[in-house]
Amino acid sequence: MKNKSIYIAVNAGSSSLKFKLYSMPEEQLIASGMADRIGQSLGEFSLKFNDEKYALELPIPNHDLAVELLLKSLIEKGVLPSFDVIAGVGHRIVQGGKYFSGSVLIDEQVVERIESLIPLAPLHNRPNLQGYFAFKKVLQTIPHVAVFDTAFHQTMEPQDYLYPIPYQWSTQYDLRRYGFHGTSHQYLVQELAKLTSLSPKKVITCHIGSGASLAAIHNSKVVATSMGLTPLGGIMMGTRTGDIDPSILHFAALKLNESHETIYSMLNKQSGLLGVSGMTSDSRDLEVAHLAGNERAILANQLFVRRIADFIGQYYVRLHQANALVFTAGIGENSGFYRQLILDEVKDALGIDYDVELNLKTRGKVVKLSTPSSKVEVWVIPTNEEIMIIRDTYRLAQKP
Ligand code: ADP
Repeated sequence: MKNKSIYIAVNAGSSSLKFKLYSMPEEQLIASGMADRIGQSLGEFSLKFNDEKYALELPIPNHDLAVELLLKSLIEKGVLPSFDVIAGVGHRIVQGGKYFSGSVLIDEQVVERIESLIPLAPLHNRPNLQGYFAFKKVLQTIPHVAVFDTAFHQTMEPQDYLYPIPYQWSTQYDLRRYGFHGTSHQYLVQELAKLTSLSPKKVITCHIGSGASLAAIHNSKVVATSMGLTPLGGIMMGTRTGDIDPSILHFAALKLNESHETIYSMLNKQSGLLGVSGMTSDSRDLEVAHLAGNERAILANQLFVRRIADFIGQYYVRLHQANALVFTAGIGENSGFYRQLILDEVKDALGIDYDVELNLKTRGKVVKLSTPSSKVEVWVIPTNEEIMIIRDTYRLAQKP
């Protein structure tokens, strides 16, 4: 292992910390794993390397201890000879607000900015920063880089990112659409460019996991994306509503006699596929229930698919056509069932022709589903947000 060749991508959530180690510049995955249930009475730690998996159950009271555990096990298990080989750490930061249109080396000013954005994303930016502080404590002298979920969407025009609310709310409180999953949408267009020579490139990217968003991308620049001020907006998701009439917040609070905080939390955690089906947010279970004829599962899936199809139609118009439609994330990569439902809603309007059998058997790999006669190419491309974090960290760490 060469000196200073290892880069770590970190995704720190409130109770979990996921990591991947890559050797650069060859982009070789060295190890991956996570600390889960941080702060609960019993946590879990796992580390995968060289086809081996090492798992452990123990209390992990906070992010500092999760990072200590991770770094200690990298040495103990012989994954790294010493910390000296670590050249940089890239941290996923969900909300970069209007300040960041690309990744940056983290310094005190950047930390202050990210802290100032906590009110816009309290569930994300706070734990993202905790992850950074924990790594910085141990790895003090190497570069740490912030990679923002929102950055790739900063190319939107005001007509696309402003909401029709009193203008001062937008200017004084920065209440506007930011969009999320930016690293994933960007990865998809970069990979697509290697796979096809479409020109001009007008691409609709569909990141459909339990959190889900679509983006309309023209010549590698986002013109529109479905998530909004927070990841609650846009298409329906596993437990989130996506776009709804905001009056629902007001009337549900009155009817249920609950605070707007409680209703807001229900819109985030008890809605979407879970809320409509009354069963589960997991698309795998809903697919089984749907095929078994369960009416609520069918209804939940129909709503889900219709909302995605509506956004695809909207983005097709926004882009004045599209050259490619790309699916990724848990559902988009793995579920031929959901892809078929979505494609069948949009194919006539968009002139899509695709291989039904190939779609049903495609799981977790790069495949072109459309036939040569299709007016829009349809692709499945597994996303890799960590490699985007690593590439930016590597690039910024090289700078003098
Ligand atoms: P997030 O990153 O937002 O938590 P994921 O991208 O992991 O979400 O997606 C989770 C969703 O993807 C779940 O609804 C799950 O059922 C679905 N999913 C994950 N793996 C598979 C698979 N192998 N086959 C079908 N669906 C899958």
